Amino acid sequence: MKILLTNDDGPFGPGLGELAGALGSLGKVTVLCPAEEHSGVGHAITFLVPVRTGRLRLADGTDVMTLTGTPADCVKFGLAHVFDGPPDLVVAGPNPGVNAGVDVFYSGTVAAAMEGGFNGVCSAAVSADRANGERPADVARQAVRVIRMLLDRDLARPWVFNINVPRLGAGEPEVVFTRQSMSFPRGTYTTGLGPRNREHYWLDSAPHAEAPPADSDVACAERGAVSVTPLRLDLTDLDMLADLSAEDETVCRESQR
Ligand code: MN
Repeated sequence: MKILLTNDDGPFGPGLGELAGALGSLGKVTVLCPAEEHSGVGHAITFLVPVRTGRLRLADGTDVMTLTGTPADCVKFGLAHVFDGPPDLVVAGPNPGVNAGVDVFYSGTVAAAMEGGFNGVCSAAVSADRANGERPADVARQAVRVIRMLLDRDLARPWVFNINVPRLGAGEPEVVFTRQSMSFPRGTYTTGLGPRNREHYWLDSAPHAEAPPADSDVACAERGAVSVTPLRLDLTDLDMLADLSAEDETVCRESQR
């Protein structure tokens, strides 16, 4: 099995080498990640300027190819230029900090997995509670545990899963299939003064506006289970489309043209 591993935190992002090592039990791992951190860039791509590649070796011996682009660029470029035929699996992560709820839209980690999905390759985003900072090998083991479970299911079509590893304790956490919560962290800004007394505003983390549903990714990660959410790539509101088509003959005819 050929595996492309990327992340949104760059080659020195925490746990990259550990995840590469753990994925090695599933197949041949090629690491291709952004040359610099690109957290929170969502599905941005680079096309107004060229991108360049680099190579380095992490302290643990993991070989890494870097790209002066975004996480989505890494997958796009990897599939076009690095692999001889598409890989069997794209993995993005491990991101320090859970990517659940609406954060899925801001996350470069999740976008990289979705880019794999656009290309018909089974893909997984892996994020973990920041409290696991000292346990990168355990996070990697949980990620591979879930990915192996998904591969064993022999699912009928290419998939994209968003995996969130909770704060790990002593025992083996439960693995739960969840839905994406729409609970939304309100934007709060810390105000500060820079050089020459120029005021600036810095986006800060904030509690979610409302309690997430119990079956959601956010709630699951909070209660200490590994959250596994299947993601769809088509954002169309099918219920709204059906309502519009039923109510308005024009819309119906337009859409059938
Ligand atoms: Mn990140």
